[in-house]
Amino acid sequence: MSRLAIIDYDRCQPKKCAMECIKYCPGVRMGEETIVMDESLGKPVISEELCSGCGICTKRCPFNAISIIGLPEELSEDKIVHSYGKNRFRLYGLVVPREGVVGILGPNGVGKSTILRILSGELIPNLGKLDEEPSYDKVIKHFSGTELQNYFEKLKNKEIKVIHKVQYVDVLPKVVKGKVIDILKRIDEKGKLDEIIEKLDLKNILERELSQLSGGELQRVAIAAACLRNGDIYYFDEPTSWLDVKQRFNAARTIRELDGRVVVVEHDLIVLDYLSDYIHIVYGVPSAYGIVSHPRGVRVGINAYLDGHLKEENIKFRKEAIKFEKRPPLDASNRPLLLRYSKMSKALDNFKLEIDGGEIYKGEVIGILGPNGIGKTTFVKLLAKIIEPDEGNVEGDIKISYKPQYITPDYDGTVEELLSSITNINSSYYKSEIIKPLQLERLLDMNVKDLSGGELQRVAIAACLSKNADVYLIDEPSAFLDVEQRLSVSKVIRRMADEKEAAMFVVDHDILFQDYISDRFIVFSGEPGRFGKGSPPMNKREGANIFLKEMGVTFRRDQDTGRPRANKEGSQRDLYQREIGEYYYV
Ligand code: ADP
Ligand code: ADP
Ligand code: SF4
Ligand code: SF4
Repeated sequence: MSRLAIIDYDRCQPKKCAMECIKYCPGVRMGEETIVMDESLGKPVISEELCSGCGICTKRCPFNAISIIGLPEELSEDKIVHSYGKNRFRLYGLVVPREGVVGILGPNGVGKSTILRILSGELIPNLGKLDEEPSYDKVIKHFSGTELQNYFEKLKNKEIKVIHKVQYVDVLPKVVKGKVIDILKRIDEKGKLDEIIEKLDLKNILERELSQLSGGELQRVAIAAACLRNGDIYYFDEPTSWLDVKQRFNAARTIRELDGRVVVVEHDLIVLDYLSDYIHIVYGVPSAYGIVSHPRGVRVGINAYLDGHLKEENIKFRKEAIKFEKRPPLDASNRPLLLRYSKMSKALDNFKLEIDGGEIYKGEVIGILGPNGIGKTTFVKLLAKIIEPDEGNVEGDIKISYKPQYITPDYDGTVEELLSSITNINSSYYKSEIIKPLQLERLLDMNVKDLSGGELQRVAIAACLSKNADVYLIDEPSAFLDVEQRLSVSKVIRRMADEKEAAMFVVDHDILFQDYISDRFIVFSGEPGRFGKGSPPMNKREGANIFLKEMGVTFRRDQDTGRPRANKEGSQRDLYQREIGEYYYV
């Protein structure tokens, strides 16, 4: 094993510590330069050649800034494609763009965006040689004899036109100003503006300023802008964030129809599966290193990812496989009733909501499905008695714990202080059921105000589940989470529902996530922004059937893993399922 010494320079604060890392390092004590202060950086650097891997510095550092990580033997230095610096993240291997759509699958922090920045020509990779000037000639030599040699030659000679939809679309209004229609008209190189407006449902926002758009609206405009341009190759970094299910499939269809090669990073496994022909899995240790696997066909690739095992490479990157067991339908007759609500209605300015009544039982998870702006959050607020219905009522007095869709970091204090104010976070139960699966260990000493979107989401989910309640309402828990975190959050929610004498309502647009955790579905339909109707709780098959019909997609189960897959449009199975009216699993 060789090793990596990673220093998180955002955490490292030499002015606030006693330089414990240097003081206690056995190498330094023996007079070697294992850790030295880098004067220009104002921070310590560790020599990986001299470090023995004892781990003392990692324990002594009061800010948990250091990680010493064992590296698989075969990762020799000459396989590094890019390194962000000494003691920083490095990437091994690269994705090869090819005909069709190539998907990239992996957790956050293993270099997926870095891969897109390299392939789109925004970053010339340094091949791990930190003291040399990076250049395309060196990169071309490094990849000589592979498809990437040819790719980088063309990139160097500007013979390929690259289009890149970035991950953080919320920065777009800072760099582009103007009305949506004017912006799109300017870049419509293909003369397909009307078609794209129709496909991505942009009609109602054409006259709006970019700065006035919501996250989901910006996302669709960014996808439209990319698709309207003439490119040889298109890169899409997380195209489904903020989109509802219908918008996700519309975006996926539009991207699939592009002429040219496409590479997509995506965490919604159903959409990734639907979109891609091939998959590269990226694994490693987040923020330390990432390794790009060989390409696989999309079905085999996603199954290998869930399995956590790359057989050809002989790599196990996760201890447990993720399985989709077929749970028997919920038998309500032997469950105690928890909550009953009547038919309800509520009018809000221009929006009207109607809800069919329902009964909810202890221990069940209700998945709430429907487009954006259809009244899901309003329904959740009615149950929580945050707002009063115009007609109808929620019976009894139930205690509710609510995680809103938009979470704001308005707490003044650390994550540990926040969670400790709700419950005892030191119990072994809490540690194993909440802290560990939600990866909160490293966040406990951080200020809530300094958390990123995905970190804040996990803390908000933990805070919601830590409260003592009869009903937990969890609005969009998968937003900002990577594929791995989505799967562990779904396990946490599922287990809590099974163990607590409570019920969970979960609003989410990731259907794989919903299918995994839910016992029953409530489906919302109507006209977003004007009128919404919520169904009674239905068994999964009935609910999913109604919902998928409206979405215009049919589903099957993968024969090996049992995971849900969307059928390719117009395939024999798709046509057959539409004909017999079975949109879920046959
Ligand atoms: P992913 O897209 O898989 O989430 P990224 O490619 O964004 O991963 O980043 C991988 C790692 O590289 C991150 O842990 C991040 O800390 C580090 N990193 C990204 N950009 C930079 C940069 N400009 N300087 C230093 N480190 C960076
Ligand atoms: P969803 O959760 O399905 O996205 P919401 O319940 O948040 O939908 O909103 C449904 C509709 O009701 C939206 O058009 C929204 O603008 C409107 N709405 C929500 N809350 C209010 C309010 N307090 N006053 C006026 N309109 C509202
Ligand atoms: Fe101090 Fe830790 Fe930084 Fe070392 S790594 S200087 S102990 S904060
Ligand atoms: Fe020194 Fe041990 Fe830290 Fe390596 S792991 S830098 S040898 S204290």
